[in-house]
Amino acid sequence: MRMLLGLPQLWILPLLVVVLFQCSFALVIDYSYVGARGPRHWGDLKSDWKECSDGKAQSPIAIRSKHAELNSSLPGLRAHYQSSVCSIASSQYIFKVFIAGAHCTLPLNRATYTLTDFHFHIPSEHTVDGTRFPLELHLVHKVAPNSSQITVVSKLFKLGRSDPLLDQILKLKEGNATINLSNYINLHGGYYRYLGSLTTPPCSEGILWTILKKTGTISSSQIKRVIALLQGKNARPLQKINKRAIYKHSS
Ligand SMILES: [Zn+2]
Repeated sequence: MRMLLGLPQLWILPLLVVVLFQCSFALVIDYSYVGARGPRHWGDLKSDWKECSDGKAQSPIAIRSKHAELNSSLPGLRAHYQSSVCSIASSQYIFKVFIAGAHCTLPLNRATYTLTDFHFHIPSEHTVDGTRFPLELHLVHKVAPNSSQITVVSKLFKLGRSDPLLDQILKLKEGNATINLSNYINLHGGYYRYLGSLTTPPCSEGILWTILKKTGTISSSQIKRVIALLQGKNARPLQKINKRAIYKHSS
């Protein structure tokens, strides 16, 4: 003990404090996709994450096009996306782009939702007719910045040509830039619709999901770059559909 706290060692203490602080800061991760903090355990990790294990209307789900109910009253999606300042945030399992202002809107069910952010999952979380895609884009819209009234539009990507929006985003790294999202994101065409949840804790339910039928393409080098940013894959396993209705838009 005397040797440990002797003068020659004392100067090390502040360094140790700095190193320990940095390590603990770097290791603060609320949840994981593997191991003891993986998806099976999310509901036990925090009291307000119970829906992750107890919820009956969770996401993602396996969509079967034949079983989806044709609903002719579903409207076509008419997003009004404009030039917006986009900024990147990334850490383990998260690669997110925040949209400043309220320039990108999506009218839906008599409400006007605003695009607040979009982010990526590798591989896709939803499957369609048994296919799991290499990447899924989630466009998160809210009626107000802190509202729990959320609708997420999902686009699935196959392997192929590089996606131009992702190219723009990957160039940004940690900076920000003005991007006209209407040049890159097209919500036209058919889709699947169901009521689900956030796919990350707290797994809150009541999220209106739209899964676009039209897929995009992403190159293998883009996939590698996104996986490097995510430091691992970030897809929650499929959840039980239970008695939920899955609808499909007529086109
Ligand atoms: Zn997501």
